[in-house]
Amino acid sequence: MQQFTGKGIGKGVAIGKIKIFDKSEEKVRRVSVEDTAAEFARFEEAKAKAIEQLGVLYEKACVEVGEENAAIFEVHQMMLDDDDYLDSIKNIIEEQKVNAEYAVATTGDNFSEMFANMEDEYFKARSADVKDISERVVRILSGSDGDSSSMDEPVIIVAQDLAPSETVQFDKSKLLAFVTHLGSSNSHTAILARMMNLPAIIGIEFDKAWDGKKAIVDGYKGTLTIDPDDEQLKEALLIREKDKEKAKLLRTLKGKPSVTKSGKKIKLYANIKGVNDTASALDNDAEGVGLFRSEFLYLEGDDFPSEETQFSAYKTVAENMGGKQVVIRTLDLGADKQVSYFDLGQEDNPAMGYRAIRICLTRPEIFKTQLRAIYRASAFGNVAIMFPMIISLDEVLQCKKIVEEVKAELKAEGIPFKEDVELGIMIETPAAAVISETLAHEVDFFSIGTNDLTQYTLAIDRQNAKLDNINDSHHPAVLELIRMTIENGHKGGAWVGICGELAADTTLTKTFIEYGVDELSVSPGFVLSVRNEIINN
Ligand code: PEP
Ligand code: MG
Repeated sequence: MQQFTGKGIGKGVAIGKIKIFDKSEEKVRRVSVEDTAAEFARFEEAKAKAIEQLGVLYEKACVEVGEENAAIFEVHQMMLDDDDYLDSIKNIIEEQKVNAEYAVATTGDNFSEMFANMEDEYFKARSADVKDISERVVRILSGSDGDSSSMDEPVIIVAQDLAPSETVQFDKSKLLAFVTHLGSSNSHTAILARMMNLPAIIGIEFDKAWDGKKAIVDGYKGTLTIDPDDEQLKEALLIREKDKEKAKLLRTLKGKPSVTKSGKKIKLYANIKGVNDTASALDNDAEGVGLFRSEFLYLEGDDFPSEETQFSAYKTVAENMGGKQVVIRTLDLGADKQVSYFDLGQEDNPAMGYRAIRICLTRPEIFKTQLRAIYRASAFGNVAIMFPMIISLDEVLQCKKIVEEVKAELKAEGIPFKEDVELGIMIETPAAAVISETLAHEVDFFSIGTNDLTQYTLAIDRQNAKLDNINDSHHPAVLELIRMTIENGHKGGAWVGICGELAADTTLTKTFIEYGVDELSVSPGFVLSVRNEIINN
C-alpha cells in the first residue's frame, strides 16, 4: 500500500483501476534499427489498426452527432493512406535507419507545419488532423491501444496534466475519477470534473508503474491510495455509502421551489457544456441553464462548427429543457481553452490576452455564425444570450449592434426567431464590476463569473498550481465586487446571477441571498445541495 496526498478539487470517493494518460509526444524516442523493412511492416500493421479504430469511431459518431460531423473520421482514414504521407514515413525509416514511432511523429510534425502555413483555410484546418492521426499511430506502435477514449471498464485517470479538450474526449461512463500533478482548483479541467460529478485530486506526481493497479481516490481528503488494504477499502466503501444516503436525502428536494425563508424566489440553474449534460441538469431538477459553455462545441471538433451544427445543438438543448430558460454564453475560447484551427498564436499572457469577446468582435464572421445559430434556436425554446469577458460599455454596444445585424439578416431571409431574446453579460473582470451600473442599463441581466473575477481581482493565474493556495475566491475584494455588482445591476434594471464555481459554495449561499442575488447557476450535481441552503436561509 502507498498513499499520496494532494488537494481534492472534486468531492467523492472512487475505487477502481488506474489508467495512466500519457501524452504520446513524451514517449517518442529516436531509436536506430537494422531491419528497416521489418520496421516499415510494423508501421503498416499499426496503420491498419488505426484505420479500423477510425471506422468504429465513425459509426459511433454517426449515431451520436450525425453523419456530417462524423465525416472527419473518414477524412482521417483517407489521410492515413495518402501517398506523400506514406512516402515520408518510409523514407525516414529507410534513410535514417530509425524506428517507426520516430518516423511517424516527425512526418506528423512536418506535415502539420506545412498545412498550417497554407493560405487555403481548408488545408490550414488539416494541420491538426495530420497530427492527430500520427499520434494515434504512435500510440498503437508504442503499445497502448491508440484510442485514449476507448476504455473497457471504468477507470481512474492519472495524468501529468489534462487540457479541457483532452478531458472532454473521455467516455464519461468509463470514468471514476481524475488525478493530476498539475492543474488548479478553478482550472477548466477541475470544473469539468465537478460537472461530471467525479472525485478529483491535483498535486500528485505519478509513477507509470501504477498503470492497471487498484486504487482509492478520496476527493474529500485529497488522497490517492495505491494497492489499498482491506481496512482502507472498507472505509472507502463506507464513505461512499454515506454519500449515497446524503444524495438520497437531497433528492427529496426535487420538485420543491427554491425560495428563501423570507420568501424570495432564487432561480436555481445548471451549468452545462453540451447537449449531453441536459439530462443530468433535468435529473437534478435545475430550473434552467444559467451557463451553456458553448466553446466546448468548438473544442470537441477539428474545425469550426458550422451554423447547422451549432443550431442543432442549441435547439436540442432548448427543446430538452422544455421552456425553461437556457442562457447560451457566446464563444469563450483562448487562455487555457485552445483549438489549433483558430490559429490564436502564442501569447506571453494568454489569460489576459486575445480571448472570448475580444476574438468575436475582431472576427465577426465567427461571431455572426454563432449568433445566427442561437437566434434560429430561439424559435424552439426559452433562449437567452450572454457575452463573456466584457470590460467596457463600447464592447456591449458593439455586441448589440452585431445582434441587430444578425436579426435583420434572419428577418430578410424569412427565418423565424424570437425578437426579445434576453441579452446579458458576464461580469468577470473588475473593470466590468466597477462600471456595472452603466452596463446594467444596456442589458437584461448580469451573470457573475467568479472564477475569472477572482483571477483578475487578485492577479493570480487560475491555472497556476503554485498559487492555488492563495487564489481565494472568498477574498473581501472579490466579495465586495460581487455585492456591488448585484446592487448596481438592480439599480440599472438588470437581474443578477452568479455562474462561477462560487455559486455552488454553500458556505456563501446565505451571503449571496443577503446581497440580493436573483439566480445561482451551478454544476448539475450541486443543484440540490444549493436548494437545501436556499430553503434554510
Ligand atoms: C467564470 O469565469 O467564473 C466562468 C463561469 O467562466 P469560465 O469558468 O468558463 O471562464
Ligand atoms: Mg470566465
